[in-house]
Amino acid sequence: MDVFTSAAELLRNHRPERPVLCLRPHAAARAARWFLANFPGQVLYAAKANDASPIIEALAEAGITKFDVASSVEIARMAAVPNAELYFMNPVKSRVSIRTAFDEFGVRSFAFDSEDELDKILEETGRARDLALYLRIACPNTHSLIPLEGKFGVPMAEAPALLLRARQVAKRLGITFHVGSQAVVPAAFGEALRQVGQLIVTSGVLVDAIDIGGGFPSRYPHSDPPELADYAEEIAKAWDELAVKDSCELLCEPGRALVAEAESVIVRVDARRGNALYINDGAFGTLFDAAYSRFRYPARLIGARGAKGRGEAEFSLYGPTCDSSDYSPGPFMLPPSVKEGDYIEIGQIGAYGRVLANRFNGFGEYDEAVLTDEPMLSMYADTEQPIAAEVSLKTARA
Ligand SMILES: *Cc1c(COP(=O)(O)O)cnc(C)c1O
Repeated sequence: MDVFTSAAELLRNHRPERPVLCLRPHAAARAARWFLANFPGQVLYAAKANDASPIIEALAEAGITKFDVASSVEIARMAAVPNAELYFMNPVKSRVSIRTAFDEFGVRSFAFDSEDELDKILEETGRARDLALYLRIACPNTHSLIPLEGKFGVPMAEAPALLLRARQVAKRLGITFHVGSQAVVPAAFGEALRQVGQLIVTSGVLVDAIDIGGGFPSRYPHSDPPELADYAEEIAKAWDELAVKDSCELLCEPGRALVAEAESVIVRVDARRGNALYINDGAFGTLFDAAYSRFRYPARLIGARGAKGRGEAEFSLYGPTCDSSDYSPGPFMLPPSVKEGDYIEIGQIGAYGRVLANRFNGFGEYDEAVLTDEPMLSMYADTEQPIAAEVSLKTARA
């Protein structure tokens, strides 16, 4: 993959017809180092957030080799990482995917949130004696911008009976939850951990692991969350209050926070109508969350001419397909002079960007390049010296 020092340098060499996914593996590596150094437990990467090989390799080189996976395809992909340890945390799995995970990929950790799913796991693994079973409990998603509740998670009232049953068949028993994605209040984790503590007391069942899921935030123009250190502190405090803390392992499964700032996309303006720009990527591409979750991403006009004219104006973005829902209201801040033929870099699309792109209307194909500059926004910029470019070059060529 070609390596450039910035989007501007990339465009000096050619004028791409397709949108360009710009990978910053060094930013993923920095996020991984932060989690490994500051999270008081095991760190799993939630593989669904971004499946680009250079990103996964950067995370792995930084030391993340445990992965939260949800499908057979994710299992096969992540199993290729040296020393990978896979946690099959989708609470509803197909029988074949359980059996393949167990037989062919050595997966022993499985999530469940119902009696039926527990039975399914036991049947498909031949009632193996070395299973690590994680009960997914429902928890409030009130502090997150993208709630994930409703689909999964056993209600508190039914949890004790399931825990008791699983305790009898599991080698290791865990409890897991997800507070919702882009959880902007650290207390979300403390509240959920206290709920777990209560569940352990009321059920009288000892657990070996508590997996607090993902939800750690990234930085966007519409969402400036507290520092990640505040999350680590809140979690450590709540953990300290748990009676089981000395015999229990703590795990987390960040997706967004590890990869959001590790990718941006270069798009071209194909038309301007007032303050609406028609660009060559959109809601059916990397901007799904901009269209459907009202995310705002940082944007900048690329190139030497970009600096002329000071100040910025508000723009909305139409994608290239013929569907009128292919619209991201933003606003996205750009120079008022932006016009047809200009290229724009849209940042922070590393989480749930490329993985949500589809082929509607024949779009959804990208060029790819590695950029070695800083992400447009960062949760980690102040946590380390400026990132060494050699690291990213090495990763990109690996
Ligand atoms: C999606 C998901 C994650 C990652 O969530 P983020 O908000 O991206 O951190 C972690 N665990 C599970 C079970 C998930 O479904």
